[in-house]
Amino acid sequence: MAPQAVVLLSGGLDSATALAVARSEGYEGYALSFDYGQRHARELGSARRVAAALGTKEHLVLRLDLRAIGGSALTADIAVPKGRSHGAIGSGIPATYVPARNTIFLSHALAWAETLETQDIFIGVNVLDASGYPDCRPEYIEAFERMANLATKAGVEGKSRFRIHTPLITLSKAEIITLGAKLGVDFALTWSCYEPQPGGRPCGLCDSCLLRQKGFAEAGLADPAASAG
Ligand SMILES: [Zn+2]
Repeated sequence: MAPQAVVLLSGGLDSATALAVARSEGYEGYALSFDYGQRHARELGSARRVAAALGTKEHLVLRLDLRAIGGSALTADIAVPKGRSHGAIGSGIPATYVPARNTIFLSHALAWAETLETQDIFIGVNVLDASGYPDCRPEYIEAFERMANLATKAGVEGKSRFRIHTPLITLSKAEIITLGAKLGVDFALTWSCYEPQPGGRPCGLCDSCLLRQKGFAEAGLADPAASAG
């Protein structure tokens, strides 16, 4: 039987590539997405299409209203930064940071993994060309993995040794795009923009749009989602 892995899937190109890596390593994917009240809920449709295209055993979309907590440009009435230079994107923690988001997401992934009796969790975080989010750093992932093995029945009883796989953590956006393309990810299905425009087009100016444009340019590839609109 193929090993199983829970894969956090946002609908963006990083998590789509992380899912493709898990599949290429022989894992059966259990994709997990969150309807958390994000401004860019359009990404959930992308997550569904990516999960279907890459072949997952199951795709769970959990509802979790982070707008009730707020504190982020993605979950509260706070402006999404636009038109920033790459230098500005690379310094400091932006308003699009969602308080403790990856801890919230990984905790749900851990609960599902324990229930499925699997020990492998994939997350598409990366530190290069990212937005300075503290919960994307290797030291954070290592700490979460230690915690996962302390916090669970399966961990304490020695039935599971949970592993948080971060296949993209040291890759640039261009390298992620190159890898995803090699593994057959259809980037036309993915969604990156934090603030979809009326009519459903990416804004082209938020940090996520700018990092995506830079990544495709450096990879020497055309972004199929840019022409599809
Ligand atoms: Zn955008």
